[in-house]
Amino acid sequence: MSAKFVGAHTSASGGVFNAIANAEAIGAKAFAFFTKNQRQWSAKELDSETIDKFKEMLLHSGILSKHILPHDSYLINLGHPESEGREKSMEAFLDEVQRCSLLGLDRLNFHPGSHLKKISVDECLAKIADAMNTTLDKTSGVSLVIENTAGQGSNLGFKFEHLAQIIDKIEDKSRVGVCIDTCHMFSAGYDIRTRETYDATWSEFDKIVGFKYLMGMHINDSKAKFESHVDRHNSLGKGEIGLDAFKFIMNDDRMNDIPLILETIDETIWKDEIELLYSFEK
Ligand SMILES: [Zn+2]
Ligand SMILES: [Zn+2]
Repeated sequence: MSAKFVGAHTSASGGVFNAIANAEAIGAKAFAFFTKNQRQWSAKELDSETIDKFKEMLLHSGILSKHILPHDSYLINLGHPESEGREKSMEAFLDEVQRCSLLGLDRLNFHPGSHLKKISVDECLAKIADAMNTTLDKTSGVSLVIENTAGQGSNLGFKFEHLAQIIDKIEDKSRVGVCIDTCHMFSAGYDIRTRETYDATWSEFDKIVGFKYLMGMHINDSKAKFESHVDRHNSLGKGEIGLDAFKFIMNDDRMNDIPLILETIDETIWKDEIELLYSFEK
């Protein structure tokens, strides 16, 4: 039995439970999804019928909650420099965590935030951590999983130090984690293309952040060049990263038992990409 749990960010259109069916259809052992429309601020509450259906289908699928990595709305910016934008974000973020809780899920993946060139990096990171602490106080059972970014625009989280700085300020460290996106890390200037660079990058990650915080990964190749700070995913082996990095990951025990999620651009080949990844295991 493989210790790797590979899947994709599947569509929840028509109901959150559809994300499970869509995951099963491509042979996924993990999945990510949006618990609400990711481009809208508010959403209809999850009714008990939907929640029951989700839980029942999940049980039948055999997929465990620790292998599911729900993603929050793209609109949320916990580091927003202005109080109105930040309050709106915090309200929506709390709702996202509560939705995960209702579905019996244990982690929520989110992008840390942007300073919008109005406050310093340190101020923005402090605001993010503060918003996370407030949210953790009001909820239980769900860990907040910070995603590394490519550093496009004024988005923070593109340096391991940013992730570490946020974690350092979190009061309940048992409920914070990180999700490393391979496309974002590469585009941010962390090379993983050769055995040597792969090992060096991850030992730097371990030193600065720590593997104990790794609660998920996004498995994407990159259309954009190394250190370009541009966030453009590509199908595995068709981008600038190449297949070797994904071979290393599939044979790296430090990535065992966490959701490994494809967000590659051609969903019609996700089933093949999942098979390809499992074929790399030695
Ligand atoms: Zn991602
Ligand atoms: Zn991305």
